[in-house]
Amino acid sequence: MAEAERLRRVPGASLAFFLTDRCPVGCGHCSVSARVDGPTIRDWELFGEVVAGVAGLPELRVVAVTGGDPFVERRGLIHAVGAFAAAGKAVVLFTSGYWARPPVPGWIRQVLELTSTVYLSTDSYHAAAAAGVGPQRLRAAAETVLDAGCHLVLQVLDEPGAIEAARELCPTADLSVIAPLPAGRGSGLFAPAPARPLRDFGRCGLLNSPTVRYDGRVSACCNEAVITGAGPAGLRRQVRTAADLAPALAGFRADPALTLVGRHGPAALSLLVDGPVRTICQACWAGVDRVATDPAALAAATVLAGVGAPDGAR
Ligand code: SF4
Ligand code: SF4
Repeated sequence: MAEAERLRRVPGASLAFFLTDRCPVGCGHCSVSARVDGPTIRDWELFGEVVAGVAGLPELRVVAVTGGDPFVERRGLIHAVGAFAAAGKAVVLFTSGYWARPPVPGWIRQVLELTSTVYLSTDSYHAAAAAGVGPQRLRAAAETVLDAGCHLVLQVLDEPGAIEAARELCPTADLSVIAPLPAGRGSGLFAPAPARPLRDFGRCGLLNSPTVRYDGRVSACCNEAVITGAGPAGLRRQVRTAADLAPALAGFRADPALTLVGRHGPAALSLLVDGPVRTICQACWAGVDRVATDPAALAAATVLAGVGAPDGAR
């Protein structure tokens, strides 16, 4: 997990591959609002292009395959993991382990054998969901993952008893403790953070983790709301061929407003955005929106932040 986290901070070394919006579990807090009948791969030719684009990125070392639950898309998962592994990328899979009913299908074992690390998500919402994943299923998933030779990370919500339960399930697994996210269905459950001045926020580290979706939509970061279509259009691009992907990612890296957020933090946007804000993303969205209509303000903010005037806005 430490190595995966390290590579997430290296520009170009990692990305998230969002394989499907679909998931059968139905957690009440799902930050991407995944549903059993949610949208999923329809255009297989486009999907093949997108996978080939990711596999062909020379500097890319790790692909984090997520969703929805990637295991719900058997054909897409087999194709994507096979292509990424063949291209020498380390594959990290995010799943709830809902699929671990004995006997576990052979194709799942084959996918896991090509996978470096599996993040198994578990918390009280997963257990209580309509098609919930209880301790027995979770244990079977953990055993299957370890039998296949993968590293195992248990990802738990920061709630009472979660760490102890995870340690009991698998004492040797790495543990990732995450905060509740007020996004997707979670926005109705978890209170948003209180508003704070812009200067309280550091720079955005998630700009090193762009997200490529199965339908060719590419996001500058792995923010769940942005991945699922919220926020300014400037945070997304649409690719149609494998060759479109590298320029789309380069476009995000060259974007002057995102450079301010990623290199200097939201305080550098103070000429563009009125504080206080609840999250760094709120400032980022307002800044990206403002830049779309006011390039002169961007030029002033950029010079103030000391990163030089962006091309086209001098
Ligand atoms: S298992 Fe994950 S993707 Fe599926 S509904 Fe729950 S939180 Fe969402
Ligand atoms: S600050 Fe902007 S780029 Fe960073 S995660 Fe939030 S929306 Fe994405």
